[in-house]
Amino acid sequence: MTERAPDAVTQAKASPGKSSFSLPGVEGIPALDDLSGDRSQPTPEAAQVMTPSSAVLEEHDDGRTPAAGDASMTSTATSAPTPFQRPLPRTMAIANQKGGVGKTTTAVNLGACLAELGYRTLVVDLDPQGNASTGLGINIRDLQASMYDVVLNDLPIEDCVEATAVRNLFCAPAALDLAGAEIELVPAFSREMRLRRSLEAVRDDYDFVLIDCPPSLGLLTVNGLAAASEVLVPIQCEYYALEGLGQLLRNVQLVQRNLNPRLELSAMVLVMYDARTKLADQVVHEVRDHFGEKVCNSIVPRTVRLSEAPSFGQPIITFDPTSRGSIAYRSLAMEVSGGAAQRAG
Ligand code: ADP
Ligand code: MG
Repeated sequence: MTERAPDAVTQAKASPGKSSFSLPGVEGIPALDDLSGDRSQPTPEAAQVMTPSSAVLEEHDDGRTPAAGDASMTSTATSAPTPFQRPLPRTMAIANQKGGVGKTTTAVNLGACLAELGYRTLVVDLDPQGNASTGLGINIRDLQASMYDVVLNDLPIEDCVEATAVRNLFCAPAALDLAGAEIELVPAFSREMRLRRSLEAVRDDYDFVLIDCPPSLGLLTVNGLAAASEVLVPIQCEYYALEGLGQLLRNVQLVQRNLNPRLELSAMVLVMYDARTKLADQVVHEVRDHFGEKVCNSIVPRTVRLSEAPSFGQPIITFDPTSRGSIAYRSLAMEVSGGAAQRAG
């Protein structure tokens, strides 16, 4: 398929004629057509998908803090229809094998913003660091049950799910013991499908399930990809943003071919955008040139408030509701949901 260029920087030809700027890693990225998933099953639920607009937010304004004003403040607010809407329920793996690229921040804050829109949302913490769990206010040193028990001991996932301070937002927490699962799973029966099986039992309880994957391409991430119908990839607005992405996308392909034909690369989210640097803009253009419609319009800025919120165990929308991070993740939630009508009670 794609030929590997020995020197990524000089030989990449991602966007002919657009600019001389090219990110390392872009040449190793497989064709996106191969990552669209098998949609041969008709999806009559598509009719449920409604027009997203600020009206959607006002409709659910029954005491929860609405984001309508905020959404209209940002140029990234979306209008209908968005290319990201899909029938509910949706299970999205948030994956990128690099650490520190914003997976957990996106799982927590996109999850909170979807919940604020009225969608019942479950954040599944698949990272032994447990950062999504602590970021949602859960004390992971004190867990009765966690994702370790779900993945290794067949504990029903609902037995470890905890409510959070945000209405409609739930978390299946992880703690350090999950690190052992990566090895303990190796000889286990049906080792790649553990998470998928456990989520099937709660499929109708949530509108969105967001799986926060660990920074590796090991068995836990494979479990995340096998359980999901979509992959959402956060991309840092930095020079090495695309390095390693080819490998991730090839793994998505492998899971698609062998375990989960419906899996689709559905969205890429640009995060940690620093408006003061020219490089950030170049990265945005390059990623958009290459991935086109897969890239969400909403861009998450680099802000200190987003990095402070987890230490208070809060998503940004409760920690600092009017901050730029809140506005960006609200806008992203509107865009990703496309205003689909909620299904779950
Ligand atoms: P990952 O889950 O991919 O390892 P994290 O979401 O944990 O990445 O983010 C890595 C670090 O960067 C964390 O300290 C987090 O608080 C911080 N961070 C993430 N997104 C932003 C942002 N938009 N602005 C500022 N800091 C951020
Ligand atoms: Mg993380």
